[in-house]
Amino acid sequence: MDLRYSDEDEAFRAELRAWLAAELAVLAPQPVRDDWDARRRWDTDWQRRLFDAGYAGLSWPKEYGGQDASPSRQLVFLEETTRARAPYVGVNFVGLLHAGPTIVAEGTDEQKAAHLPKILRGEEVWCQGFSEPEAGSDLASLRTRAVRDGDHYVVTGQKIWCSFGQVGDFGELLVRTDPDAPKHQGITWLILPMDLGGIEVRPLKTVLGSSEFVELFLDEVRVPVECRVGEENDGWRVTNVTLSFERGTAFVSELVDATRLVEDLAPYVSDPAQRRELGHVAAELDAVWALTKRNVTQASRGVSGRGAFMIKLAYSEARQKLGELSLRALGRDALVVDGVGEFVEERLRTLALTIAAGTSQIQRNILGERVLGLPKESSR
Ligand SMILES: Cc1cc2nc3c(=O)[nH]c(=O)nc-3n(C[C@H](O)[C@H](O)[C@H](O)COP(=O)(O)OP(=O)(O)OC[C@H]3O[C@@H](n4cnc5c(N)ncnc54)[C@H](O)[C@@H]3O)c2cc1C
Repeated sequence: MDLRYSDEDEAFRAELRAWLAAELAVLAPQPVRDDWDARRRWDTDWQRRLFDAGYAGLSWPKEYGGQDASPSRQLVFLEETTRARAPYVGVNFVGLLHAGPTIVAEGTDEQKAAHLPKILRGEEVWCQGFSEPEAGSDLASLRTRAVRDGDHYVVTGQKIWCSFGQVGDFGELLVRTDPDAPKHQGITWLILPMDLGGIEVRPLKTVLGSSEFVELFLDEVRVPVECRVGEENDGWRVTNVTLSFERGTAFVSELVDATRLVEDLAPYVSDPAQRRELGHVAAELDAVWALTKRNVTQASRGVSGRGAFMIKLAYSEARQKLGELSLRALGRDALVVDGVGEFVEERLRTLALTIAAGTSQIQRNILGERVLGLPKESSR
């Protein structure tokens, strides 16, 4: 294992740093939070610039618009864009970080050609329709039904907590195609074109007052069979491919960002006990970063590391501690001190981190069962 970057990676870093400095100097200000049309334009414009400069889809196949670069190049990219405070994926989150990678791994050639270049160019935005009101942690108990009718699946049901659903062109959709099979064996993974008839999108408000979630109501939506990813009733396996990206690589950039927050907070923390706590959080984040690099090194040598199971859990809990500490350390100043107002919002946002993409309890169950080999929960 070698955790150092190569000379080529460092040369790439220098080029990227110069490019970011020039681009960020002329970047328009970010639109307001709930102006979704403007947010979509801003996020996808930035994605297009990355694409034109050769920085989009670093680890994706060249054939479909990517760069076929080494995973370490992707880490350098994340370190530099976060350090420079460049825009992050925004509304391109699902497309770039888990729908696209799932299609790379499991899609047909036609699906790859139809979607991957457009995701990388910022021309196609994706959302995720996995969770249902009665199927969150126990996702495999989902009930949205899909009945085959010739060349279509007719889909009826309800999805919830669908991030960026109000601007999505396509959704990752899990449906039940065999109601009689054991619950993990009757699921199919579909690409849902969001402009089909029968889809109703209803916004949900968060505790922060923001509106990035929607509910989806699906009423006899006719989804073409060619939108199926993987085989019929093999969707649980494909779902686990999606989740491996969602719980692994999707968090890497946020991890770098958390390190920046530690640095921003440090000057405001004077109490020795709190400084020690901050030091602990910094060390935890550092350890998760080292684990991430180790995983990446292993992945580039074809070894599947078990560390991936830890990253989401360790990162989200460390960031939650950081959020909680920031409010204790800043007190009322968190609301008024210039430049640190973001900590109030940050604290509230961190509450969601140990829920999104599978709660901490579920991550611990997975670690217990799949990594430590403990007995499985009887009901799952
Ligand atoms: C920021 C954010 C973004 C999200 N984006 C999306 C999205 O785009 N698309 C989408 O489909 N979903 C999305 N979700 C939904 C998310 O996947 C679910 O909220 C999550 O899986 C938990 O499901 P639930 O909310 O139904 O909670 P529940 O499953 O009802 O869990 C409630 C509590 O019970 C605990 N629990 C449940 N089962 C067990 C068990 N077996 N052992 C121990 N404890 C258990 C849980 O840990 C939790 O504390 C998002 C959620 C958040 C917070």
